[in-house]
Amino acid sequence: MATITSLFYLLSAVLFILGLKNLGSPKTARRGNALAMLAMLLAVIITLLDQRILDFTHIILGLVVGSAIGVYAAKKVQMTAMPQMVAIFNGFGGGASTLVATSEYFQLSGATEVNILATIALSILIGTVTFTGSFIAFAKLQGIMKGAPITFPGQRAFNGLIIVACIVLGVMFTRDPGNMTPLMVILGLAALLGVTSVIPIGGADMPVVISLLNSYSGLAAAATGFVISNNVLIIGGALVGASGLILTKIMCVAMNRSLGNVLFAAVGSDGGAASGGSGEQKQVTRYTADDAVMMLDNAQSVIIVPGYGLAVAQAQHVLQEMAQLLEANGLNVKYAIHPVAGRMPGHMNVLLAEANVSYEQLYEMDAINDDFQNTDIALIIGANDVVNPVARNKKDSALYGMPILNVDQARTVMIVKRSLSVGFAGEDNPLFYDDKTRMLFGDAKKMVTEIVQILKS
Ligand code: NDP
Repeated sequence: MATITSLFYLLSAVLFILGLKNLGSPKTARRGNALAMLAMLLAVIITLLDQRILDFTHIILGLVVGSAIGVYAAKKVQMTAMPQMVAIFNGFGGGASTLVATSEYFQLSGATEVNILATIALSILIGTVTFTGSFIAFAKLQGIMKGAPITFPGQRAFNGLIIVACIVLGVMFTRDPGNMTPLMVILGLAALLGVTSVIPIGGADMPVVISLLNSYSGLAAAATGFVISNNVLIIGGALVGASGLILTKIMCVAMNRSLGNVLFAAVGSDGGAASGGSGEQKQVTRYTADDAVMMLDNAQSVIIVPGYGLAVAQAQHVLQEMAQLLEANGLNVKYAIHPVAGRMPGHMNVLLAEANVSYEQLYEMDAINDDFQNTDIALIIGANDVVNPVARNKKDSALYGMPILNVDQARTVMIVKRSLSVGFAGEDNPLFYDDKTRMLFGDAKKMVTEIVQILKS
């Protein structure tokens, strides 16, 4: 049985790696997901059979109940709420690692090697930080907690002290494993560290936190894999840990911040005050769908900039219809994708792929930013932070330093959103009041549908 188990573990590890490889391109991403799911199913079934933890009835019952919850959640949870769901999944992953490592501690008998003891402590530390940190991230994304950084004096020193205390307690635990107090104190401190290390991260930096917590959940799983000598858990955990770190790096580059700056600088803790606080009356130019069509009729090129509001409105299909009508009228239509647009990495790509927008029309920020100056219309649909010029020059802004799409270089800017309210980072957007900007107030789906109807008539 041991050889068969190892072979199946090897197979599922290979499938995990192939799955990840396929996730690298939108064209193969579905297959990648399917391969990774198959790998997980194999790993779970083989482990349950091999360890004889449960009999067949329980395994099948578990599969049915788990699949039912999974299908229900996947169908019910809105695309816009996906990041929260990912945050919860990360949290449960971390929590599971803590539980497994803790139960392994209770099963220890006789002298245990120091490296196993240290790994139990590490697994509990990382798993618990991931658990509470992820739930704070969930609360921020869900709007249960305010998104802006929450800080207190000496926060960094406090977090540093917790880490030092955990190391000391870890050493104490390895010296005297019979005494479980140090381990339980590590658990409590780690829970606190998860909270205190995520609350100061706010506004636009949340994408980095989500990918970092994702990476932590992988590291916790890998550490637990060492504790229970389970190869597939070590490999799977290491893959999640490594890919999460790579994603974290990509997100940091997208925000033009170092990881240290995201984690410790509490960027935007006083910048959010900008929203609407000036009291000064600024003028905007309002446009109707008719005005917009008239302008589009006279244009030759348009770059569409999708953002979170497009996802909320579920306007991707009608947007695709509009783009096709514009192309039929001779316009050159492109889409500009900002790396942190929406609420999860790749959000806009997934959304537009759902509406069958061709990949050739999608341009990443660096590839398209120079094109705006030669474009007639930048049409922004439900995006705000990713086009907010304060990122270039307002030093106390949560967005400061983040590269944005250069929409203000286009000849005309049209913005579809419901009001003048701020985006995720809580920053007012001076672009709304720019002379070349036309505001189309309304729900994205309603407004684009109106434009489509006028174009058709
Ligand atoms: P923003 O959150 O900055 O702005 C979205 C805008 O959409 C809002 O200002 C809102 O304005 C508008 N909107 C909402 N609903 C509708 C609707 N039904 N119809 C039309 N408009 C609507 O989005 P961006 O995509 O520009 O930026 C993403 C932000 O989210 C960044 O700050 C990023 O850092 C952050 N983030 C990104 C994550 C990622 O991984 N991509 C994860 C977590 C956070 P109004 O209410 O007036 O309509």
